[in-house]
Amino acid sequence: VSTRIRVAVVDANAFFCNCEVLFKPALRGKPVLVLSNNDGCVVSRTMEAKKLGIKMGDPYFKIRPLCEKNNVYIFSSNFSIYTNISDRMMSTLQKMVQVIEPYSVDEAFLNLDQISDEKLHSFGREIKSTIERDVGIPVCVGIGPTKTLAKAAIERAKSDLTYGGVVDITPPDLRESLLEEIAIEDVWGVGGAWSKVLRARGIGTAKEFRDYKHSHTIRKKLTKVGLQMQMELNGEMVYSVNPNSSPKKSIITSRTFSKPITSREKLNECVASYTSSAMEKLREQNSVCRSISVWIRTSPFSPEQQYGASASEFFITGTLDTRKGIRAALSVLDTIYRDGYRYKKAGVLLSNIVDRFHTQLALFDNGDSDKDVMLMQTMDMINEKEGESILKIAACGTNNSAWRMLREYKSPRFTTSWHELPKVK
Ligand SMILES: [Mg+2]
Repeated sequence: VSTRIRVAVVDANAFFCNCEVLFKPALRGKPVLVLSNNDGCVVSRTMEAKKLGIKMGDPYFKIRPLCEKNNVYIFSSNFSIYTNISDRMMSTLQKMVQVIEPYSVDEAFLNLDQISDEKLHSFGREIKSTIERDVGIPVCVGIGPTKTLAKAAIERAKSDLTYGGVVDITPPDLRESLLEEIAIEDVWGVGGAWSKVLRARGIGTAKEFRDYKHSHTIRKKLTKVGLQMQMELNGEMVYSVNPNSSPKKSIITSRTFSKPITSREKLNECVASYTSSAMEKLREQNSVCRSISVWIRTSPFSPEQQYGASASEFFITGTLDTRKGIRAALSVLDTIYRDGYRYKKAGVLLSNIVDRFHTQLALFDNGDSDKDVMLMQTMDMINEKEGESILKIAACGTNNSAWRMLREYKSPRFTTSWHELPKVK
């Protein structure tokens, strides 16, 4: 007896933009962009902005005349708002199904095994309307017998508006026609390099990939992962919906302090320490990150003068080294810190996360040295054995009562499955 598996994927439309629109409803239906903080590239765009020809990653200086001419509304990223809304989105989903796996800041997999096939589509609609009503963010929903098929379904839901934002790819005949419409580049997990390999062999669609029989070629060119993707397209579950199964695409550590921090040194120690925890999580999942963002803010509920800012730094090659992370985080803090405020919250976000082994092959060999990696692994081993961070980088300080978090972000119900954040796309 084979177990019946049903998976949904829920993904917000233009998440950062729609978070901004939530607070400025007059912008609904208008072209809106969110830019990354320091390099000023487009990280989120509404459909209306897309129609003007604006692409993800476009540097602002290039599209500025176009934006001015068309009254495009511009925001710089505000991670503290996005995390908050992301949390609300995830907890709303959690109330609707038993098992959810947050996959990125605005995306989650849901286990729908308990829902009968006839009801899948209407349940998808219910998910969509509940999120839109309770959180205020528009989403699309894809449903299917595996994660990869659910991702294929949502791909169609997003690109063809006639579906009304919900596609269930479970019915076999519908599945055949939908898979034919999906370009190989848009299959979950097939990156630019792999799609070139596949196109060179005449594989241009999801369906052609699924039906490609030369498994030795797939294994040789796309490793075991390629074969697993094929199985998933075939309806055989490889990746289960598990709150902790997929490597996070972004990792966040953030906390509101028990007492406001006014000293720069304390804030340094706090940011260094959050970076440490985040880098540790990164190593746990065998990844490296290529960018780090830091934000700080005063209490929004205090009558005092308020201030908040965030900024990011990029690594040329991915790193898992806490020392590099801390150096970068502190230099970001340098650019956003202002004297004379009572800071109530800080956060660190690691993004552009990729598999450690994947990058080492793909990039110049000037990333972390074997020695660096070994040092970090040794540190993790000792800390794990001792049960807490007895070994840490000096920048983290020793007296941390005001902003202490240690591993607290792991415990409460929601944060257990959710310490990740903005994909910087
Ligand atoms: Mg999205």
